[in-house]
Amino acid sequence: PQHGLRNRALIRNVAYIGGDWVGSDDGTCFEVRNPADGSLVAEVPNMGAEETRRAIQAAVVAFVAWRRFTPQQRSTILRRWQQLILDSADDLACLLTTEQGKALNDAHAEVLQAAGFLEWYAEEGKRLTGGVLPTSHPGRRGWVLREPIGVCAAITPWNYPAATLARKFAPALAAGCTVVLKPAEQTPLTALALAALAEEAGLPPGVFNVVTGDGDAAEAIGRELSTHPAIRMLSFTGSSEVGRQLMRQSADTLKNLSLELGGHAPFVVFDDADLDVAVESAINAKFRNAGQMCVAANRFLVQDGIHDAFATRLAERAKGLKVGPGLTPGVLVGPLIDHLALTKVQRHVDDAIAHGAKVLTGGQRFGRDGTFFEPTVLTGVTSAMIVAREETFGPVAPLMRFSTEADAIAMSNATDYGLASYVFTRDISRIWRLTEAIEAGVVAVNAGSFTTEAAPFGGVKQSGLGREGGSYGIESYLSIKHVSLGLG
Ligand code: ADP
Repeated sequence: PQHGLRNRALIRNVAYIGGDWVGSDDGTCFEVRNPADGSLVAEVPNMGAEETRRAIQAAVVAFVAWRRFTPQQRSTILRRWQQLILDSADDLACLLTTEQGKALNDAHAEVLQAAGFLEWYAEEGKRLTGGVLPTSHPGRRGWVLREPIGVCAAITPWNYPAATLARKFAPALAAGCTVVLKPAEQTPLTALALAALAEEAGLPPGVFNVVTGDGDAAEAIGRELSTHPAIRMLSFTGSSEVGRQLMRQSADTLKNLSLELGGHAPFVVFDDADLDVAVESAINAKFRNAGQMCVAANRFLVQDGIHDAFATRLAERAKGLKVGPGLTPGVLVGPLIDHLALTKVQRHVDDAIAHGAKVLTGGQRFGRDGTFFEPTVLTGVTSAMIVAREETFGPVAPLMRFSTEADAIAMSNATDYGLASYVFTRDISRIWRLTEAIEAGVVAVNAGSFTTEAAPFGGVKQSGLGREGGSYGIESYLSIKHVSLGLG
């Protein structure tokens, strides 16, 4: 991708409600800053409950007509939107890196992924068939309709400012629902750029709305989205803590929920693993997006016989990764999102060292300014350390040893989370055993990534509820109706 934004019309500094580009009621804004250098990128409306209610109202009105579009008509618009995203992929990637920080190639891949969700669901929306029931009584016939669930709310995080959004709005819109989206305060510009392209694609006013607000406003906007009676479905990706709060708030109006929350992925390497594959996959699963992924490998569990070779090779590779601003060519590891994140990563590493972990490479911030952190590999990690229990959300690979398969399974599952997991072995029987024994929504075997629009994605235990992606992911946006007909 090119380095530099060509089409500045994609930078929108107003929110998108009911087809209008609007500021906040009181005219206040908040700043969006580039995490690579702290520079100001744009100022965006700081909205609250009132504007959110208006967006919900616009989505309620738009739902009446949108649900009556034929699936083909909806598909045509979503496909046009997808094409516009592909046409603007270089610019969108550049904007995404500017507000989020990740390496430009990763941002570009994410934009293509977002477009992929639109394409996939534009097709899937055409295949939402119902059914005819077996006759239970001579004078009766019955059938089943699948209908859009209604107006949906989406609250999304900053680490994937395009893909996490599309994974929600693409199935929702294809199903015939309308959407109010609240993007993360750090990354509203990608969301607004996508909205600009939606408008250009001919998405009717009110079908897709974007409400923006800063970190303090998130609570008021989130309260409105989770308590307003017109919202029938709330889809959230973010921290487990906020997920719990939204679930509690949604109880009074019994909303349908999809929650993609934190993870603490084990990355298990057995003695018989292909070392090259394991190391390259570790680089992918740990250092992409500077480790700021809910599916990031958080605990490397390495069997005794391969431990030292894996540790040495991983440290060599990690040391060679180029750190710097995401827009700089060749950079693989961008900045962390903010100084708070930097402090947290340093605290996790310092705690591990204080408890006896050894630093093979990295261990501290990169450079004197900014929020960069050195790709870090730690050995001798124990369950007493914070890195073994909490999500680090940074480029830190903590290695723990294990001896037996039973140990590996017990260690993998010794967490309240259960989102992603990674297993490296060439033994087919062990692959079966591990994929069945690990408590997670995803098991990647001999691979460091797994995302595709066709696959279901989500967690077990406190990593969340529901599945996004694939034919599973559209079910959350549909309700099932039984029609019973008396023949008279
Ligand atoms: P992260 O740690 O990734 O920032 P958060 O859960 O804090 O995770 O943020 C994810 C999304 O949830 C963001 O859009 C954020 O603004 C929003 N958010 C934060 N606090 C609340 C809240 N109390 N209610 C609703 N949304 C919130």
